[in-house]
Amino acid sequence: MIVDLHAHTFYSGCGRDAPEALVLAMIHEGVEVFGITDHDYGIVERREEYVRTVRALAQKYQSKIRLLCGIEIATTPHHCLNATQDYAELDYCLIEHLDSPESVMQGDIVAFTKGFSCPVGIAHTDLFAFIKARNSDPFSYLSSLAQANIFWEMNVNFDSIHGYREHRYVKEFLESREQQQLVRASGIKISVGFDGHRMEDYLVDRVRDMNQRLSEMGITPYIPYAKQ
Ligand SMILES: [Zn+2]
Ligand SMILES: [Zn+2]
Repeated sequence: MIVDLHAHTFYSGCGRDAPEALVLAMIHEGVEVFGITDHDYGIVERREEYVRTVRALAQKYQSKIRLLCGIEIATTPHHCLNATQDYAELDYCLIEHLDSPESVMQGDIVAFTKGFSCPVGIAHTDLFAFIKARNSDPFSYLSSLAQANIFWEMNVNFDSIHGYREHRYVKEFLESREQQQLVRASGIKISVGFDGHRMEDYLVDRVRDMNQRLSEMGITPYIPYAKQ
């Protein structure tokens, strides 16, 4: 199963692809479950149109791909929109900047997302370094996230927009049996995302490999429920 829960279209200021062209490209690449997660600060007042567009594509191509409608929420003061928004019509959201001292979450994602009526994921964050920095016990902390229905993203990006940089925490996780065991024991769910902004930069092999590696270590890549 090839699952990718993190992607941007022209609804993000930094994205360029039309949603339908992107979905067709993903079908061509063999992606089976695909989540579009444009930036909330790119969508702003176009939320209704955004959701309608993604839902229509989900229906149009339902025999070829399972398309999910998510959103990526920025939490630094510079980018942060109204934090009390309702995300009920979305299948899930990804949250950025948990480990930033500037984040309006102030390190407490459980409190911040308490009223959210969709699953919440932690985007591209070195969660083990974050846990260490706050002197928490990894097992207890991961368990508390699992209980709050918060999942953690393995971000496999490598593209021009991000300067062809890989996330080191992902490599560390793949090499650390201890971290893998803590994830399994705590029950926290793990998602896979490429975080693409340009479809010509998409590397499906990285997505496929991560899905496979997780499965091999007994962790099922997370797929949110589609609300339609
Ligand atoms: Zn992001
Ligand atoms: Zn992103």
